[in-house]
Amino acid sequence: MKSKFFVNIARELRAPLTLILGPVQRLLEKYPKTDDSTEYKVIQKNGLRLQNLINQLLDLSKMEAGKLTLKAAETDIIALSKAILSTFESHAHKRHITLKFKSKFKSLGMYLDFDKYEKILINLLFNAFKFSEDGTEISITIFRKDKNISVQVIDQGIGIAADQIGHIFERFYQVEASSTRSYEGSGIGLALVKDLVELHYGQIEVESLPGKGTTFRMLFPMGKDHLSENEFSKLNDNKKIRINSLLTDEDDVAPLSEPDAGLPLILIVEDNADMRKYIHGFLKNNYSVIFANDGLEGYEKAKDKTPDIIVSDVMMPKMDGFEMCGKLKTDIKTSHIPIIILTAKADEEHKLEGLEIGADDYLFKPFSGKELRVRIKNLLEQRRQLQQKFATSVFISPHKLDVGKTDKSFLDDVLSAIDTNISNPDFHVDDLASKVALSRPQLHRKLKALVNKFTTEFMRSYRLQKAATLLSEKVYNIGEIAFRVGFSNLSYFSDCFRKQYGVLPSDYK
Ligand code: ADP
Repeated sequence: MKSKFFVNIARELRAPLTLILGPVQRLLEKYPKTDDSTEYKVIQKNGLRLQNLINQLLDLSKMEAGKLTLKAAETDIIALSKAILSTFESHAHKRHITLKFKSKFKSLGMYLDFDKYEKILINLLFNAFKFSEDGTEISITIFRKDKNISVQVIDQGIGIAADQIGHIFERFYQVEASSTRSYEGSGIGLALVKDLVELHYGQIEVESLPGKGTTFRMLFPMGKDHLSENEFSKLNDNKKIRINSLLTDEDDVAPLSEPDAGLPLILIVEDNADMRKYIHGFLKNNYSVIFANDGLEGYEKAKDKTPDIIVSDVMMPKMDGFEMCGKLKTDIKTSHIPIIILTAKADEEHKLEGLEIGADDYLFKPFSGKELRVRIKNLLEQRRQLQQKFATSVFISPHKLDVGKTDKSFLDDVLSAIDTNISNPDFHVDDLASKVALSRPQLHRKLKALVNKFTTEFMRSYRLQKAATLLSEKVYNIGEIAFRVGFSNLSYFSDCFRKQYGVLPSDYK
């Protein structure tokens, strides 16, 4: 367990697994009802089991090494638990098992580690299904108990004998009885569950009646006073994305409607040819895709083609994915491009490393095509919302925007350059470009990408908004105001103003 060699092997198994699970998923989608599909399902099922086992082993080994730390963020425990339960719906339906969710809370904010809470519930539900007959009921109940929240997973399955129950949280323990021998398992799940609950400063206990069913009861403390500083997540909007990806169906991942601009351009940076082909397979209908074989080529292509989004591997020759990401994120010409990092290493350090160098999202191998598509769609949507904000107002403090450091300071520089020169009618695009140390076309491209406006339009819009503010302050007359915001011609000013606000300056209130 402790051997580093073993952990490395387990990690190495992730990439080939992606390449087994991904293609088989696509085969199943393509030929859902052929003779072969039964065999595809066997491959898929076993691949998923292997994947799950590898992940649990890695978690357990990290736990032993004391490297698994809590990364808690405020999370709606009701929504999250429901979302997790709902991923079992189709399985339950097939087996005529009734799923129930009981709680009087509509929503309830708790400090949870999203990933770890997900693992806890999935493990318990998985066991509940494994040890239940068809036609029974499985439920989750959530209620308050003093200063704790109680979460219970209840099944009506085979139960656990009294002399065994004391051992089930032990590592590698499996109930040794002829009646349960036919169940596959490794005895890792509950040991991990217990560790993960305790990492949350919670408790878990089990009550079971053979032949009647089993109840796992957990208590999680409310509030955040019990957590130390390093137990808070820095990645708080991560949870939003994960819930989406849990709940979004294949059909929801519709192509982005981008009427004029054609398909969004994606740059895939990946040195493994199979992986490139695999990724291309499920992106090609909705995006136009270009490739780079290593980080260096990726860096150069990104600067040359300014793609809408980049998906990059980490381990690559010449320049790795982290270095490429760091370089692109600090270069003003490319810093606005969202980057998704694909990594085989699921440890927290790497997540953070990825985020500190400014990666917008990361995905662990093995990942599904669906998951990648959802992440890409989310990031492009975030870009669009950012542009939308600027469509209604250009008076936005860059610090309030969800953009990286380089882009914040770029926008800061642009806005303050325009502001300082606002009364100067001769302050044009070229002057602005030189103030922010970019060429005129570079500035154009950058502003278009960030705020969806061309430079002249953006500058004019800023001047006019300033004028509108001055008009409502009613200190100066219209002529003075036009002059103060850099218009030397009054009728031209009125004209532009009317175009932006729909009324003449004299009618503006
Ligand atoms: P496994 O991979 O064997 O399921 P776990 O650690 O998850 O490992 O569980 C350990 C043992 O506890 C299982 O082998 C099973 O005998 C028993 N067990 C766990 N959950 C349930 C349940 N809901 N109903 C009955 N027995 C259970």
